[in-house]
Amino acid sequence: MKKPGAALSIRENVPLAPYTTLGVGGAARFLASIRHEDQIPEALEFARARACPVFVFGGGSNILVSDAGYPGMVFRMEIRGIWPLDEENGEFISVAAGEMWDGFVQRCVDQNLAGVECLSGIPGTVGAAPVQNIGAYGQEISDVIVSIRVLDRETCAIQELSGRECGFNYRESIFNSTGRDRYIILKVAFSLRPFGRPRIRYTDLEEYFRGRSKAPNIGEVRRAVVKIRESKGMVLNGTEGDIKSAGSFFKNPILEPGEAGKIENSARDRGHLASTENLPRLAAPGDRVKLPAAWFVERAGFQKGYTLGNVGVSSRHPLALVNNGGAQAREFIDLMHRIREKVQSEFGLALVPEPTLLGFLEHDG
Ligand SMILES: Cc1cc2nc3c(=O)[nH]c(=O)nc-3n(C[C@H](O)[C@H](O)[C@H](O)COP(=O)(O)OP(=O)(O)OC[C@H]3O[C@@H](n4cnc5c(N)ncnc54)[C@H](O)[C@@H]3O)c2cc1C
Repeated sequence: MKKPGAALSIRENVPLAPYTTLGVGGAARFLASIRHEDQIPEALEFARARACPVFVFGGGSNILVSDAGYPGMVFRMEIRGIWPLDEENGEFISVAAGEMWDGFVQRCVDQNLAGVECLSGIPGTVGAAPVQNIGAYGQEISDVIVSIRVLDRETCAIQELSGRECGFNYRESIFNSTGRDRYIILKVAFSLRPFGRPRIRYTDLEEYFRGRSKAPNIGEVRRAVVKIRESKGMVLNGTEGDIKSAGSFFKNPILEPGEAGKIENSARDRGHLASTENLPRLAAPGDRVKLPAAWFVERAGFQKGYTLGNVGVSSRHPLALVNNGGAQAREFIDLMHRIREKVQSEFGLALVPEPTLLGFLEHDG
């Protein structure tokens, strides 16, 4: 992991748009490429000496940078390395923050290690993946995390947090809630199931494999997930349009059953639901219900392909807001507000954006 004598690279006035999948936003005052954890205290000291705030960047696939840029220092996490912790059966694996998530998934599938195959095709780094507890097609990264090695930005102390201490929930962990801006994730340790059977727990995947007599292996599940994602414009390697996005722009709201019932009534009152139709809902932990944000976005009038200036709703996925070319960050904020206001007024439902907003004023978000 350590590159002896590797000097810390710090550049000034670095445009951030090329480092994000949305492809918008201004420059960071400083950008440090972090290639080893030993470089972090020096980089933090550099920022402190200049009274610069610090922001940690992975692959930029879940960040909207403001047009004004960021008047602080960005740490770009480029620490690489993958270590099997149990050589005997390869069950435990520790992975550095700067490794690409999907490369790691491919490696697990190649080695017949089950547990992350449904998370195929998600862009970004391993270090960012626990931040919002990435999830898709019936799996969440928290299902397989044993521990996370972190650096505390205040003290520079390095700690090992257990999965339980990370406070995982739907699209949530301490890293984007109570401990936001406190920890830098350095390494993530996973426990995977050698030759484990893939779990097909998601309607799209069940549909994909319907009629097959033999259970699919994890390689087949990975291929199926990537194919389904491609059809929704949810992979970055596509050549068709709609690929400049941050994935889902809004989280699926999780509510108490009573609150969901009120929203269902208001949807019916306003003619968004026929008297025989029910609000689509999924079960969520703690007897709560998860409502599909995409349904509300579409019913509020923002259909696939809707455009507003240079931005719009993906033609393949109602939850992905896309840069159709030449967009500015301000346009995403305007579209986001427009959608949130309409969903609020039509259904009484507050949608919460999923990407991190960087360099904006409080009221923008
Ligand atoms: C096409 C597309 C499809 C997507 N599909 C999904 C999906 O199915 N499911 C899903 O959950 N997400 C999805 N996403 C969102 C995104 O890919 C994930 O959130 C991913 O984990 C972000 O990784 P990143 O390295 O790009 O992080 P970044 O965008 O760089 O950062 C995201 C957040 O993590 C923080 N962060 C990054 N690295 C670290 C670190 N080492 N330590 C501490 N904090 C850090 C940042 O400060 C920021 O707040 C999708 C995005 C796109 C563009």
